[in-house]
Amino acid sequence: MLKKNTIFTVQKKSPLNIFETNILLKYVTRLSDVELIINNEKKLHKQEINILNKLIQRRILGEPIAYIIGKKEFYGLVLNITSDVLIPRPETELLVDLIVKKTFEKKIKLLEMGTGSGAIAIAIAIYSKNKIEIIATDISKFALKIAKKNAKKKLTKYNIPIKFIKSNWYNNLQNYKKLFNIIVANPPYIPKGDIHLNKGDLRFEPINALTDYSNGLSSIKEIVKNASKYLVKNGLLLIEHGYNQSNLVRKLLFKYGFSDIKSWRDLSGIERVTQGKIS
Ligand code: GLN
Repeated sequence: MLKKNTIFTVQKKSPLNIFETNILLKYVTRLSDVELIINNEKKLHKQEINILNKLIQRRILGEPIAYIIGKKEFYGLVLNITSDVLIPRPETELLVDLIVKKTFEKKIKLLEMGTGSGAIAIAIAIYSKNKIEIIATDISKFALKIAKKNAKKKLTKYNIPIKFIKSNWYNNLQNYKKLFNIIVANPPYIPKGDIHLNKGDLRFEPINALTDYSNGLSSIKEIVKNASKYLVKNGLLLIEHGYNQSNLVRKLLFKYGFSDIKSWRDLSGIERVTQGKIS
């Protein structure tokens, strides 16, 4: 237990590493990184110490830092996060990167399936070089609430609307056929029973966003199989997948009529996103 302490002694005594300790210190004191350094002899209020102790306990029990502070940075944007949504991952920035760097002559329409916190759709809306209209779906009304909140916060100064629709993959998209230039998704792709589901942050994340309760490919297959009905001619599908699934995803894309199929590596050198074009 931390008692009457200065910022400096908290940093010394905290059972967490300095990186996590500083995140919690900033959250509790509302100081910035620089202020934390400049004011490190400042005594914390009793109330601040009490809150900090509670947060440290939660972290010790394994709760992800992003859920404790309710925030996570993705593609340079600080997003609101709760345990209703997956914590945006650095490797998913690849998916955004691949899309924002493409140039199209005309305004494009993009569909993001399973948006969670809205991270992918919002980052694309802000950073795409193109005029863009976005529809983002999720099966969870709780996730959509977070996504809408993030969109409102981040997009008010841009004139790019994202329309959010509650839908189990394509189920509620009957009115959107042959419409999209791009479909993008980071679906649940961890196989049922995979050991990672019982480790680290994943234990606290919405299980439906992580696993398809099957071989890891069933949601991907569902998306790939029906994508051609919703894409325009030459429309693209980009999908994030597991570290060992690229070959199988390429095969699925081929099976369901895609061409120009290629996979892209994330920053760890793992093939993480596969794309195909529908003719
Ligand atoms: N990339 C996540 C992980 O491996 C899984 C997210 C997902 O299934 N889309 O932890």
